[in-house]
Amino acid sequence: MTDCIFCKIANKEIPSNLVYENESIAAFNDINPCAPVHILVIPKKHVESLNELEDKNLMAELLSGVKEVTKKLGIKDYRTVINTGKGAGQEVFHIHLHIISGRPLNWPPG
Ligand code: AMP
Ligand code: ZN
Repeated sequence: MTDCIFCKIANKEIPSNLVYENESIAAFNDINPCAPVHILVIPKKHVESLNELEDKNLMAELLSGVKEVTKKLGIKDYRTVINTGKGAGQEVFHIHLHIISGRPLNWPPG
């Protein structure tokens, strides 16, 4: 999608700090990290949110991406978050999984 910031990152039209990528997904550092490790995993294809994600292979790719990133960073304790919809805090409408780690994380979150 032309006006989507994460499509632009996936297409390398705007820079990001890439941590991992393959044919279908990319992972990069969040620009406004809420923890020492805060990485976003996105599909390269534009999908607005989990509500619009129908492709089960892509679902698997996204979770595999989380495992690739955490393996690469050597982290075993981390939180994975998908905000879906404005009311749940989604601000960028290109689906992304947050990987958050590197500090104590309380549960339940605020
Ligand atoms: P969400 O609230 O779940 O939609 O999360 C959007 C996330 O994208 C936020 O944590 C932002 O800090 C992050 N973000 C927005 N623009 C960029 C960007 N250009 N590069 C990296 N992360 C970004
Ligand atoms: Zn997009």
